Amino acid sequence: MSSTQEEQQKQDGRHQEVGHKSLLQSDALYQYVLETSVYPREPEPLKELRELTAKHPWNVMTTSADEGQFLSMLLKLINAKNTMEIGVYTGYSLLATALAIPEDGKILAMDINRTNYELGLPVIQKAGVAHKIDFREGPALPVLDQMIEDSTYYGKFDFIFVDADKDNYLNYHKRLIELVKVGGIIGYDNTLWNGSVVAPPDAPLRKYIRFYRDFVLELNKALAVDPRIEICQLPVGDGITLCRRIS
Ligand code: SAM
Ligand code: CA
Repeated sequence: MSSTQEEQQKQDGRHQEVGHKSLLQSDALYQYVLETSVYPREPEPLKELRELTAKHPWNVMTTSADEGQFLSMLLKLINAKNTMEIGVYTGYSLLATALAIPEDGKILAMDINRTNYELGLPVIQKAGVAHKIDFREGPALPVLDQMIEDSTYYGKFDFIFVDADKDNYLNYHKRLIELVKVGGIIGYDNTLWNGSVVAPPDAPLRKYIRFYRDFVLELNKALAVDPRIEICQLPVGDGITLCRRIS
């Protein structure tokens, strides 16, 4: 193949101007989305938790308000009732979930850090949704392993949000695929990993971004060829990959 043909093939594989549907081309556009469609509709408890979390030194970890709005809509669309969350931090996505599911809905929520969960807990309690949450302090994997040993948990979850240690996502996936129901959804968060998934090998990346990058790349590759799921990679937040179990 000539180098001109190779160049043409590379070009063909890229998105064309006409098919370019990525809307968020600038921070101003993102700000517009937040101010026009997200913040005015954000439930008061979520706003309070967002403002409280903004003062915390690790606030970069929180789920953004637009992603919270997306999760809320998704949970309602699929009538999710029995849910799981891995990676709680101060609880923004947890509270968004608790507000979206019905009064008798449940969230099994796991995090190695209880202190941060307890920062947000008063807001969750004031919102009247704490009874939906079963918080477990500690690493998620052993809890999943326990559930895998007990077949009564198989296919029990309508929705699972994974937003924790990226080096374990594939380990989680092995177990979660048994625990989510057929037709249910697992959402893996941060699958665009700060845009680093397309960074050249020598790009200057923050240490933790570089450390987890290969795990995110591995996950994305594995999900793309997993026949047990349909997937949809959305450029919401830092990228979320929705996996709908089909078998
Ligand atoms: N979903 C949260 C929100 O809306 O604010 C953000 C979660 S934050 C990005 C990641 C969390 O995963 C941290 O709170 C961290 O303590 C937790 N984590 C890290 N390793 C974990 C593990 N092995 N099991 C459970 N949680 C873990
Ligand atoms: Ca996240």
